[in-house]
Amino acid sequence: MHSKGALNLLIDYGGDSSDEDNPGPGISVKRLHETEGEEFENSKKVKRLPVPNIFLSDDKTTESFDDPLLHSGKLRTFPHERGNWATYVYIPYEENEGINELIDVIRKCTHDVDIKKTDNFHISLTKTIVLKHHWISLFANSIRTKMACIKKFMILFDSLKVYCNEERTRTFIGLQIKTGYDSLLKLVESLDKCLSEFNLPPFYENPSFHMSIAWCVGDFEEELKSLLPQLNRQLHELMDDFSQENWYIYVQYLLCKTGNKYFQFYLT
Ligand code: AMP
Repeated sequence: MHSKGALNLLIDYGGDSSDEDNPGPGISVKRLHETEGEEFENSKKVKRLPVPNIFLSDDKTTESFDDPLLHSGKLRTFPHERGNWATYVYIPYEENEGINELIDVIRKCTHDVDIKKTDNFHISLTKTIVLKHHWISLFANSIRTKMACIKKFMILFDSLKVYCNEERTRTFIGLQIKTGYDSLLKLVESLDKCLSEFNLPPFYENPSFHMSIAWCVGDFEEELKSLLPQLNRQLHELMDDFSQENWYIYVQYLLCKTGNKYFQFYLT
């Protein structure tokens, strides 16, 4: 129940947008009044109030609420700001039986750590950078031009390695590459040039190309590193059991994810 005499706003998202007074698309604001504990709508004299600032504001500093429980405990490493799009470029990879079996093996060997399966397998070629919305198409065009000069190539995986993010809030177990390093380096050098055009940070100075397949919240680098000899032995057994297709990628294109949009760039 509302308190006596309270003035409330009802936000009606399906509102009649044909109404000329309606200040925002699809949003009509009705004035409600309450008397003697009874709520009524003064429908004859519906007055239009200005749309609350939250819907109109172009305030670039508005931060959104980030609840780690909504995304498996991952912590956002930079605040979300309106108009800024989290962006990264990568080689996508479809999951397969061999890798799923490997993740099960990792889980069995790391029973003290809450290991999660990575949800979209990929090899990162840039760090996650923040792109202004109005730069997106320029950035994509710059990548497209540069990638059109690079040849398709093959990557083979051969061992596991442990990584920690820069903030040391997450630890990853990744499949390291055995072949394809020079081609990957060429991609990164070209992408670094695109990034520098927008004053954005390059990839790691000494890139260690890998595909994360499992991860956990927190810094478990030392614990997981101590298990690597055992895990790598098991990986090589699985490599004998599962066909070679489970352990390589023929790289024909890259993807760029920016916010919820994807761009695809073909190699030649
Ligand atoms: P990714 O699977 O691409 O998200 O990478 C997992 C983590 O590895 C990232 O948070 C990176 O910060 C970290 N990482 C640490 N050192 C390196 C390196 N030399 N090359 C690539 N990634 C690295």
